[in-house]
Amino acid sequence: MQEAWLQLQCPGCSVSWEERVSDLPAPETQFACDDCGTERSLSEFMRTARDLEVLQEFTEA
Ligand SMILES: [Zn+2]
Repeated sequence: MQEAWLQLQCPGCSVSWEERVSDLPAPETQFACDDCGTERSLSEFMRTARDLEVLQEFTEA
């Protein structure tokens, strides 16, 4: 699969950033925001439905 960059956005403080899909764990993994410490499943940090889709496809493959 091609290297893709995903847009992430914190549901707590709204900071946004990008990560390579290959650097991310599965969508249900607990993930903490570096900025505010909000802990949610990684799927809730995906900025758009498309970003979540790409993450799911990548981690299921
Ligand atoms: Zn945050």
